[in-house]
Amino acid sequence: MRQWRYWSRPESKFARCWHSYLPLCVHRVYCLNVSFAFPLDELRGRVAGPVLAPGDDGLADEVSGFNLATSFAPVAAVGATNDADVAEAVRFAARHSLPVRMLATGHGPAERVTDGLLVVTKRLTHLDIDAETRIATIGAGLKWEAVQAAGAPLGLTAITGSSPDVGAVGLTLGGGFGPLARSHGVASDYARSFRVVTGGGEIVTASANENPDLFWALRGGKGGLGIVTEMRIQLVDLPQIFAGAAIFDTPHIETVLRGWIDWTASAPDDVTTSVAIIRFPDFDTVPEPIRGHHAIALRFAYPGDVEDGARWAEPLRTLAPTLIDTIGPLPTSKMGLIHSDPTDPLPAWDLGLQLSSIDQDLATAILDHVGAGVESPLMITELRQLGGRAAIDVPEGSAVGGRSGRFSLYTIGVPNPELFETVLPTSADRLVTAIAPWTSKETNVNFAGRFRSWEHFESAWPAPIFERLVGVRTKYDPLGLFTFGPKGG
Ligand SMILES: Cc1cc2nc3c(=O)[nH]c(=O)nc-3n(C[C@H](O)[C@H](O)[C@H](O)COP(=O)(O)OP(=O)(O)OC[C@H]3O[C@@H](n4cnc5c(N)ncnc54)[C@H](O)[C@@H]3O)c2cc1C
Repeated sequence: MRQWRYWSRPESKFARCWHSYLPLCVHRVYCLNVSFAFPLDELRGRVAGPVLAPGDDGLADEVSGFNLATSFAPVAAVGATNDADVAEAVRFAARHSLPVRMLATGHGPAERVTDGLLVVTKRLTHLDIDAETRIATIGAGLKWEAVQAAGAPLGLTAITGSSPDVGAVGLTLGGGFGPLARSHGVASDYARSFRVVTGGGEIVTASANENPDLFWALRGGKGGLGIVTEMRIQLVDLPQIFAGAAIFDTPHIETVLRGWIDWTASAPDDVTTSVAIIRFPDFDTVPEPIRGHHAIALRFAYPGDVEDGARWAEPLRTLAPTLIDTIGPLPTSKMGLIHSDPTDPLPAWDLGLQLSSIDQDLATAILDHVGAGVESPLMITELRQLGGRAAIDVPEGSAVGGRSGRFSLYTIGVPNPELFETVLPTSADRLVTAIAPWTSKETNVNFAGRFRSWEHFESAWPAPIFERLVGVRTKYDPLGLFTFGPKGG
């Protein structure tokens, strides 16, 4: 297939250099590595984890995460082993006017960071589940798969995103729309408290009773608020759901997309579905029936009994003959199989937005750009139905953006960094322009991709939430140490 030419290019260069900026514009921005100017030995003497400067063995491993197109060249990286390490690192950064950068599991958008003190949370992998209260205490470096594996013997599940490989804290800080979004809401609805290191280097708890403004902000506001070292979330008593994916071959992409769109008009709130037009690579790791196919995957999740689930799924899974159909009873610990997102690190370029409505004209616009017979470097184009419980905020309020969107559209480019500067943005922009009539003003920070402008950044939250977040960020990070948002806003 002609579209595979995109895969064959060497992955030699990463995306262009861009610099985040300090949102509150108080600090100097360092564009060169000037580690010699900082007394890193002083920091080494205060933290238990490694402090690695350019040229040190282990720096490359320390600063690598899932998205290989994100590169970090900080003044130094601190591999935090506990709260105190994080606090020491933040205080050191404040003393030396260094912006603080963050790396958890590295599933965020492609970015090139060339400044600051990088705090790496991947060693914070502690996990405790209280079987009585069903509260899980989760370290900031832990992935959902570990939480799900520990909850399974107790019949408990977390309300997660689509991929078990993503960091639990990173996803929750942005809200976290996942495969049970319509029946159960977003991940941050289940957050009960966060342990946070603020811009002053203080270790505080944010919960409904302690620092409630920070708690409100951390449930969806994501960055610029501090470094979360652990969170406590409420798990749900749900050992099994009726869920999976039906995958249809190229000739059926249009039928399935159009059929799904019609079906969503009367979808019950308890059923969460999505479709994704995918160019599956011709790799051994991809199951044989779909390997190398341009196909459409229809994902289905219902947290009720098998008969009801089968009844709801029937009109969808029979829209056309399938290549694979895994929809059936599924342990919640295996929820990642609904989307089967990639788990091996790769260079990723993505862009997302939300839609306020959806109809057959939208289907035509999407098919014109990524449908059967169209050559495109957009490897996956996914539509998720939102609404249901995800549209309803928690009673005490939270900073989650995108609750008003009825659907999300998310597209991922082929993993070739040479295309990240021009080819992928151009293709995605064409798609975005074509679907503008259906696009919502609001998006969600976890799905927005890299922020391209201040307006894009602002669109990740409703205006009143954005304004309130600015105030909370100023209160807990008065020096603007925690860089967040696009350059030059
Ligand atoms: C395969 C894949 C599937 C995904 N599926 C979903 C999904 O279903 N639903 C959804 O909502 N999102 C989804 N996402 C997006 C994902 O939730 C965000 O990119 C999230 O930030 C990833 O978390 P991380 O820990 O890997 O972050 P990193 O890339 O390590 O960090 C990204 C940013 O998150 C913030 N952050 C992370 N940890 C902390 C912390 N401890 N304290 C303070 N700030 C922190 C910082 O601003 C940081 O710069 C998906 C991403 C991928 C790659």
